[in-house]
Amino acid sequence: MIEESKPKNMRKKLQAGELMNQVMSDYFHGLDEAATTGRQKVAWCTSVGPAEVLRSLGFAVHFPENHGALLGATRMATDLIPEANAIGYSPDICSYLTADIGAYLKGVTPLAKAYPGIKSVPKPDVLVYSTNQCRDVQDWFGWYSRELGVPSIGIKSPRNLNEVGDAPIEDVSRQIQALVPQLEAISGNRLDQDRLRETVALSKACTELWKQVLDTAKAIPAPLTFFDGTIHMGPAVVMRGTQAAVDYYKVLLAELQQNVRDGAGAVEGEKVRLYWDGMPVWGRLRQHSEHFLQLKTNVVASTYCSSWIFPAFDERDPFRSMAQAYLELFIVRSDEYKEQYMKRMIEEFRIDGIIYHDAKTCPNNSNSRYGLPKRLESATGVPSLVLSGDLNDLRCISDEQTKTNIEAFIEQIVEGK
Ligand code: SF4
Repeated sequence: MIEESKPKNMRKKLQAGELMNQVMSDYFHGLDEAATTGRQKVAWCTSVGPAEVLRSLGFAVHFPENHGALLGATRMATDLIPEANAIGYSPDICSYLTADIGAYLKGVTPLAKAYPGIKSVPKPDVLVYSTNQCRDVQDWFGWYSRELGVPSIGIKSPRNLNEVGDAPIEDVSRQIQALVPQLEAISGNRLDQDRLRETVALSKACTELWKQVLDTAKAIPAPLTFFDGTIHMGPAVVMRGTQAAVDYYKVLLAELQQNVRDGAGAVEGEKVRLYWDGMPVWGRLRQHSEHFLQLKTNVVASTYCSSWIFPAFDERDPFRSMAQAYLELFIVRSDEYKEQYMKRMIEEFRIDGIIYHDAKTCPNNSNSRYGLPKRLESATGVPSLVLSGDLNDLRCISDEQTKTNIEAFIEQIVEGK
């Protein structure tokens, strides 16, 4: 039995957090300046869309899913979702989409409070999606396209891939290249191949550093939690392809490596190590983090934070390597692949148990619906728990039930040790 203790002073604060706040502030102010002065064209891009091409063409790049996550984390989302429902978007579809469109309809954004001077999300000149993650993003951008009168263009990606072979890579590579003429016309710039190579090289450097950051949690005790990861992944999500993101992760990595050398774990008295599959519950990050702290449990690895690791980037072959990188993602893959991937993660991070977050409005990032937890449990002996909830819509969450289920699960793990 694990004794609960108060979370006070137990969570190791990362010094790099201040630098990250500055880096993110610079990014959002830069975007705002681009949109309000017209000095730089603005592209909206899905989180695992071809951001490198957009940056190379001189666009300032905004990621609406990041805005959706901010709406969730600030707990604005639940009140905004009905606004989108009222214009015909079901409460069952992506709650990033419904929260973001709801925020637009209400004329609000968490950016205004977090970054004084910013009044709204940057108005786009073009919307660029990839359906590698889900169809919702195409419908999301389609709505803005009609509303704002800007083009929405993108990549129709293969999905559910076991192997990422030549044919899908060639298909997506050609689709990315086919976007270029229209993007050149909108940006007013020609795509400079050297600049594209540089941008892909920076994305690769960012991704490699981010992997090393996450890998520090293989140490016992781990210097990082999933909840830290969801915050510190910000630059990897919105700034990949920039020097600023690379510089930031060098600082964060050095701090974490020092903490490993010092034996300084993120959770004092770490006793249980968990894997989190699926989306975070943005509006409950703090509560979940503190609850696990009390239980001396660290969520040391996750599918979500690892989704911004793209080993395939190669500046020598930018288009094909981007296509491969954006197809190799966990969310694009078959259950057979996912099972093998999670087996590796269980071993590498010495996982005692897995939590699957079954997010009501994101079946694409919920992996508990087709027998995967049971198959993985019988193959590895590692127990699992499925939590019903949602990434943004707090009406789909029972806090009491979540708490009780987590406590019973941890107790089961401890008794089995
Ligand atoms: S993957 Fe899920 S959370 Fe992300 S945009 Fe698609 S439906 Fe929304």
